[in-house]
Amino acid sequence: MRHPRFTLSSFLILTLSLLSCQAPPEAPRPNLIVIFCDDLGYGDLASFGHPTIRTPNLDRMAQEGQKWTHFYSAASVCTPSRAALLTGRLPVRNGMMSPKSRVLFPDSASGIPENEVTLAEALRAEGYATACVGKWHLGHLPQYLPTNNGFDSYFGIPYSNDMDQTRKGSTRELVKTARIEYWNVPLLRDQEVVERPADQRTITKRYSEEAVRFIRENRERPFFLYLAHSLPHVPLFASEEFLGTSKRGLYGDVVEEIDHGVGQIMQALTDLGIAERSLVVFTSDNGPWLPYKEHGGSAGLLREGKGATWEGGMREPTIFWWPGKLDSGVVMEMGATLDLFSTFCEIAGAKVPADRIMDSYDLGPVLFGTGESPRKSMFFYRESKLYAVRLDEFKAHFITKPVYTGRTEAETHHDPPLLYHLGRDPGEQYDVAHLHPDVIQSIEKLVAVHQSEMVFGEDRLAQQSPDARR
Ligand code: MG
Repeated sequence: MRHPRFTLSSFLILTLSLLSCQAPPEAPRPNLIVIFCDDLGYGDLASFGHPTIRTPNLDRMAQEGQKWTHFYSAASVCTPSRAALLTGRLPVRNGMMSPKSRVLFPDSASGIPENEVTLAEALRAEGYATACVGKWHLGHLPQYLPTNNGFDSYFGIPYSNDMDQTRKGSTRELVKTARIEYWNVPLLRDQEVVERPADQRTITKRYSEEAVRFIRENRERPFFLYLAHSLPHVPLFASEEFLGTSKRGLYGDVVEEIDHGVGQIMQALTDLGIAERSLVVFTSDNGPWLPYKEHGGSAGLLREGKGATWEGGMREPTIFWWPGKLDSGVVMEMGATLDLFSTFCEIAGAKVPADRIMDSYDLGPVLFGTGESPRKSMFFYRESKLYAVRLDEFKAHFITKPVYTGRTEAETHHDPPLLYHLGRDPGEQYDVAHLHPDVIQSIEKLVAVHQSEMVFGEDRLAQQSPDARR
């Protein structure tokens, strides 16, 4: 019997293959994308039950990915909601929620504290390219802008699109005949104003194009894209190709244009061959602005909307999409925008700050079908007061106040709290406090622990510039 002959070349091949077994090439780290709408209601997507708004791209995302039906923002208005998403912390901890001012304004002197670690900073430290496109609303002065908070680049309107109003009179009247010059909002590229007033008729389209450009330019390396649409916050604007095309009127035109942009992003990821290593999350910052009637959205069967701690104010239509990776279907467990911090860091191999209290859970077990959601509770703050708490299926309201209208309204304290079973009664219609004193006791214990650990951050929202005219 002849022994096989080992030549030099076969020895080299064997050695190389052994070496390659020992050190397989590292899989590229996943791309992470958040598409965050402004004032989009729980009921405003076709896949969440809207009968006259067409959202085929989001519907496909929901079909192929996960549709979350119990997913919350951490506040019912813009600034604190965004602070929570980007820091993984309740905004009362970092001063981005105030008893005096609900959001930042163009005359605000402050913004997100420097010692907060943003999700972009955490991911950039691990080599991620980072971009912020759209509404920022965490401080418009240079030191607070995205490019000083972990983002390599920024393109967008730095606060709400109804600010810098140039006409006297109520915004509710002006939005009916909206013209771009009524709101002298700036459009920034990094820190430079490149257009003022921003042409809001094409803003959604340009944000989507900017997002696709960033994806193309960074296809070879891991990236984090935070696309925060300025719309459908009032005043509503749509580009020519969408104007007048929806059965739902202008609001529907705007949502359908956002959906179109989502489709362009999904298509770009697919065309570039990177969809299988890209997680896309779609959600909204708070509920619909109901006093604006047809110009505001719908929370579907949920109670109230923007500004309120009822479900309609803070439960958001949320979709996770990651082709071939997610355990697809409808998720009825709890999650929150706060959780994107820990979830993304876990996926990216980035560090979650260990030197401060975080309010963020890794939702990986639900995404990948290995376990339950670690989030079992949710705290509902309005300004800096704790109004309501959800524990599993029950939600207790200690204080309530009608939906946000811009006027000062009285709050009502409840003792015992109002109690709703959100599984059987998602619309919060039937108070069952008298049937469940044990549940109220459990929630009160949870509140006692939460409040004993709470250290309120210095108020960042009430600080105004010396020449402020609010
Ligand atoms: Mg908003």
